[in-house]
Amino acid sequence: MKTQQNMEIVLAEHPKGVPTENTFKSSAIDMPILKDGEVLLKSLYVSVDPGMRGFMDKGEDDAAGVKFKIGKPITSRTVAQVIESKSGNFKKGTIVHGRLAWQKYQTSSTDALEKVDPSLAPISTAVGLLGIPGLAAYFGIINVGLLKKGETVVVSGAAGAVGSIAVQIAKIKGCKVIGIAGSEAKIAYLENELGIDQGINYQKTEDMESAIKATCPEGVDVFFDNVGGELFDAVLANINRKARLVICGQISEYNSDHPPTGPRPAHQLIKKSARIEGFVAFDFMDEFDFAKKQLAEWYNTGQLKYKENLLEGFEKIPSAFIGLFSGENIGKQMVKVADEMWL
Ligand code: NAP
Repeated sequence: MKTQQNMEIVLAEHPKGVPTENTFKSSAIDMPILKDGEVLLKSLYVSVDPGMRGFMDKGEDDAAGVKFKIGKPITSRTVAQVIESKSGNFKKGTIVHGRLAWQKYQTSSTDALEKVDPSLAPISTAVGLLGIPGLAAYFGIINVGLLKKGETVVVSGAAGAVGSIAVQIAKIKGCKVIGIAGSEAKIAYLENELGIDQGINYQKTEDMESAIKATCPEGVDVFFDNVGGELFDAVLANINRKARLVICGQISEYNSDHPPTGPRPAHQLIKKSARIEGFVAFDFMDEFDFAKKQLAEWYNTGQLKYKENLLEGFEKIPSAFIGLFSGENIGKQMVKVADEMWL
């Protein structure tokens, strides 16, 4: 095992604003020693997620129970392979996923690991389509959005990991779907590949409120919000009676140290008898298996497309994460660290 080079990436400093390469430090480390009951894992696919930004600030563990510490490895949802095992339940070769350290090789107890079912879809989807992003899209649209056939649905961050799945579920359910994203390439992807009704490039649109009114003259029934800020305000001005505002993410606020300002929604919610509701995918844990099977079925029958923005190489993980905040990804941002070992 000494011949295999191990590496890790730790938090070097708490970022101010958007994280930079200086936020992270990468170094060579020893191979870990496997203890009874544990497995030795090789990282294969590392997911980077905007919500991790909050774990990088100083302070106590947040609601998700995670806070990265200076000098300690960053963790994120990762697909890995068992390459040695001292656990009866996890044989050598098993593909697993869990919240793992940004290390090429690491030992882990098996409590925090879940086996990946490769019969459902490609193994990388365990942290994408069939992981938290896909599940957030599914439960946000269906359980929180309570959308009905024929309704008008607007999704912000529409070309990203969660948004690109949310727009397609809304189309599968027979809705009119408008996607908001930040480049012409993203709008073309949404309209031509994913089949949404119309995209709006917010980077090129001066008056978003009017743009939404023009694309949704009948009004907005469900808003699936990944972004917040001014985009939220623009959609809020166009909601219908009994609209549902589904708050999945607020990426436009994640790098700010000021509380958000803007129109307060309460009056508009009263006027429209509308509802606003935040959620996390884990609220629906009891239904995860059902939702994964449904997402996999839509994917395997060609009703739902899934795209990964895949960078290659362990050293690319920080830049993949930083790129989320400048909109570099179409689809799920992911880093491939190593090939699966065939036994
Ligand atoms: P993503 O959409 O794949 O990537 C982030 C995208 O956000 C970027 O590509 C960029 O696209 C957009 N963006 C970045 N900064 C922005 C800004 N200041 N204003 C407007 N858009 C900006 O990420 P994701 O993994 O799918 O996550 C999307 C949202 O869902 C995040 O807010 C995340 O925290 C949240 N989330 C929530 C849950 C939950 O359980 N509630 C689970 C997973 C993720 P553009 O080019 O379009 O700007």
